[in-house]
Amino acid sequence: MPAALPWLLRWGVYSLVVTSAVIPFPPPWNTLRRVRVTVSIDGLQPEHDARRAPATYEKILKNLHGRTADVSWVVTNQMLERPDYLDEYLAFWTARPEIERIWLSVYTPQKGEVSDERLTAASRRRLLKELPRLKASYPALVFPDGAVDAFADPPAGPDRCTFARISSNVSADLRTGIEPCFFGGNPDCSECGCAVSAGLHWLHGQPLVAGPDGGTRDRRGAGRGPASAPSAPVSASAIQSCRRAASGSMRAARSAGRNAARSVTRSRAGTTSA
Ligand code: SF4
Repeated sequence: MPAALPWLLRWGVYSLVVTSAVIPFPPPWNTLRRVRVTVSIDGLQPEHDARRAPATYEKILKNLHGRTADVSWVVTNQMLERPDYLDEYLAFWTARPEIERIWLSVYTPQKGEVSDERLTAASRRRLLKELPRLKASYPALVFPDGAVDAFADPPAGPDRCTFARISSNVSADLRTGIEPCFFGGNPDCSECGCAVSAGLHWLHGQPLVAGPDGGTRDRRGAGRGPASAPSAPVSASAIQSCRRAASGSMRAARSAGRNAARSVTRSRAGTTSA
């Protein structure tokens, strides 16, 4: 990571570094523009410590001292079996002075997987119903408008997944490619819980219009940016152009960097590289 970050910063790339915090990250990383550090926390202390030793709560809190970070939270089915678990988790971490934001994802299984982590249809519905209330109660939870719809309607497959199509993922050696997305293997897209994938998929279906002043507006003219002349629609071809530009950037980055990755990736085993 110390070798990759200078490349990413030089390219102007925004980087989210995901760590177990079993080793303290260098405090200067908190001063780097376009870099955020995120710690994976797999539940409340008993569950996390059972799964993640030696990255225990005690060690994480010690290693975060004097630093700021976000939390990466993957909601599993076990967390939904006990009432108030989600509230207890958010209450604990949003109260920590070191923590700025909580990034929420939902456990994404492989096809045919049978595990305690995999959400049932009922628990998924319950989670989606709870999320708006949780966001209102814990503002540090990163949960934009449309997120419930996004999680409820994930892409049908990798070929329909905007994130998979515009991202390039490599393993910790920064060379071995991971397909079809950063989960690797044969993920069950119908239960995808990746917040980025869901968000892009949802955004892709939104009827956006952009004014000549650069503001972004909906069809009624409401939205961000100064109101001025009539807006012009952002066409499907414009979106395709963005995709092509992103794909082109990916190819250029792979070619130029050789030893660095264009995007932060995280394997199912929890290995994180950039
Ligand atoms: S990010 Fe989600 S929807 Fe996209 S390919 Fe991977 S599992 Fe499927």
